[in-house]
Amino acid sequence: MAGVNRGSGSRAESADPSVAVDAVGKTYDDGDGGGSVRALDDVSFGVGSGEFVCVVGPSGCGKTTLFRIIAGLTDATDGAVRLAGAPVTGPTTDMGVVFQEYHLFPWLTVEENVEFGLKRIDRSAAERERRVDEMLDLVGLTGFRDSYPKSLSGGMKQRVAIARSLAVDPELLLLDEPFGAVDAQTREMLQRELLDVWASTGKTVLFVTHDVAEAVTLADRIVVMAAEPGRVDEIVDVDVPRPRERGDPAFGEYVSRVRELIGAVP
Ligand code: ADP
Ligand code: MG
Repeated sequence: MAGVNRGSGSRAESADPSVAVDAVGKTYDDGDGGGSVRALDDVSFGVGSGEFVCVVGPSGCGKTTLFRIIAGLTDATDGAVRLAGAPVTGPTTDMGVVFQEYHLFPWLTVEENVEFGLKRIDRSAAERERRVDEMLDLVGLTGFRDSYPKSLSGGMKQRVAIARSLAVDPELLLLDEPFGAVDAQTREMLQRELLDVWASTGKTVLFVTHDVAEAVTLADRIVVMAAEPGRVDEIVDVDVPRPRERGDPAFGEYVSRVRELIGAVP
């Protein structure tokens, strides 16, 4: 895939973390006045500019809740999230968001889906066309620009979703289990492609998954969460050079260590 340059290429150069999650808590109240769920409790971590961080943890530990709070889609009960120093108070084009389920507009073509956000930020038709070309090239979908989502495989739909989220050149790419619904082989291919996109764009990436091997494949650092209440258990630096091979003993050691932390069956 072809690269897109962002000008300032080097990583971890800014003093402010790109994302600061500061003592975030979330309590869901049962609407009928019954019990309440403490989905997140005192969650704090930072993501440096250009860093790739995965959040991993068992189902129900609050990953999607955290994702939605960072994206400005859900309010935190306690604490705050800042993006490049500014509090997140609602959805913003400074973040590209990719959901677990395919959130493409079924009535729009691939090209129109990718163009969608650019229209909202008032880009000229010529600029939009150039940017759409660039993004389709980045995710290898140039030949599918006139296709509709229903004719695409799951992996291709998530490529479109990634292209759409990057089109407006956000500071942060935020993804919630984006490859959860595709087969294992496609999943590994999409992981490699996402790493290529990250390397060529220099974006900050925060990627949520319950798949430990996926987190070890992708991340500079892994935020390991525990459940009930959802909280940060430990933050693990992944010190394995890329490209990472699953057969590499160092890779296996990280997988075992993180699985042990979350108590998952190996
Ligand atoms: P994960 O993504 O890690 O599986 P979630 O953030 O979806 O975790 O859920 C964390 C906890 O919060 C779970 O106990 C879940 O049932 C609860 N929860 C999530 N969303 C809501 C909601 N909208 N209303 C009430 N409870 C919720
Ligand atoms: Mg979830």
